[in-house]
Amino acid sequence: MSIKINLLFLKKLKIFGSEQISSCFNCDNCTAVCALSTDKASFPRKVIRLAQLGAEKELNSAIEPWLCTYCGECSATCPRQAYPGEFMMSLRRYIISKYDITGLSSLFYRLPILQNLMALIVFSLSLWVFLGYKGNFEGIASSLEMLFPAFISLIIVAYLVKMYKNTIWDRFKKLYLSFSPSVIKETLIQILKQMSFISCGKVDLWRGGSHLLVVTGYLTTLFISIFHILSPLGKQYVWTSPEGILVFYATFAVLAGGLSMVARRMVKGVPSSMFSKSSDWLFVGMLVLVAGSTLTTYLANILSGPTDPLVEILFKLNLALEMAWIFIVVPFTKWIHIFLRPFAIYLHQTIIQKEPK
Ligand code: SF4
Ligand code: SF4
Repeated sequence: MSIKINLLFLKKLKIFGSEQISSCFNCDNCTAVCALSTDKASFPRKVIRLAQLGAEKELNSAIEPWLCTYCGECSATCPRQAYPGEFMMSLRRYIISKYDITGLSSLFYRLPILQNLMALIVFSLSLWVFLGYKGNFEGIASSLEMLFPAFISLIIVAYLVKMYKNTIWDRFKKLYLSFSPSVIKETLIQILKQMSFISCGKVDLWRGGSHLLVVTGYLTTLFISIFHILSPLGKQYVWTSPEGILVFYATFAVLAGGLSMVARRMVKGVPSSMFSKSSDWLFVGMLVLVAGSTLTTYLANILSGPTDPLVEILFKLNLALEMAWIFIVVPFTKWIHIFLRPFAIYLHQTIIQKEPK
């Protein structure tokens, strides 16, 4: 196999966050400490070496960055402060920019202000249109709530197809998916390990707890949206109704998890929270705003009823924030990792099964 070398690649990778990896002198300490490293897989040094050579084709099809949990053990032991954990994170951002068919992801990493500006424009325009609309806003809201999951599903499928093409199709030149019980079982074990952040042997409760809250809260929000459970203009809610419990859990979990992530990034106490890109701040900031506005709308409905004009204004504000969130933030930030990571784990297990030992 011939590798096309590009010695300027590390410079390019800096846009995605890896500033210090050029100090790496290949001592292999990171591989020795990483729990994911095996006799056959030099993890994470293999991908560091590929990046140093600028082997873009191989990196575009690499699965290793998705297996890394960013526990930060490698960064803590690196004698050159090359921060290999952050390097893996930047590779995930780089790969996302390659998988994104719109090209916007790459543009946003190059010009972070543009993503913030576009989010602000989409929010302001939507709010202006919504506030000016004097008809039945309930109907518009329910159409948008059907559009959001459909749009997100399309985006996710586009990313997964690209990941499949780069990792399986380009490698084996044929369609291949494994449904063997051993592959499914190992995939589930690895996903659970990743979710609990225990693959490096040390449990980071703060990080694991924040992620668990955000993921479960967000999945509950998707459930609420897909089944049109939240309808603050057409229905009077009470504190203890089943929808109330769902909405309270979803917003509380996202708010608590999101604020905890913000605090973690501000404290910068561990390698995984030391470096933040503009898109990371936009992601958590918008997450907190969307959850906060949903909760406020719901509380206003409970306290003053669905016909109060304030409830309609709050609901319009909430939907305008969701427009910016769904169209400008979700497809181009680490939100998409929620779906890419489990699929990458499955593809990794499939490759292990298919390739000769
Ligand atoms: S520990 Fe640091 S210097 Fe050593 S191989 Fe890993 S990244 Fe490079
Ligand atoms: S951050 Fe943790 S899982 Fe990722 S390469 Fe470093 S030691 Fe391994």
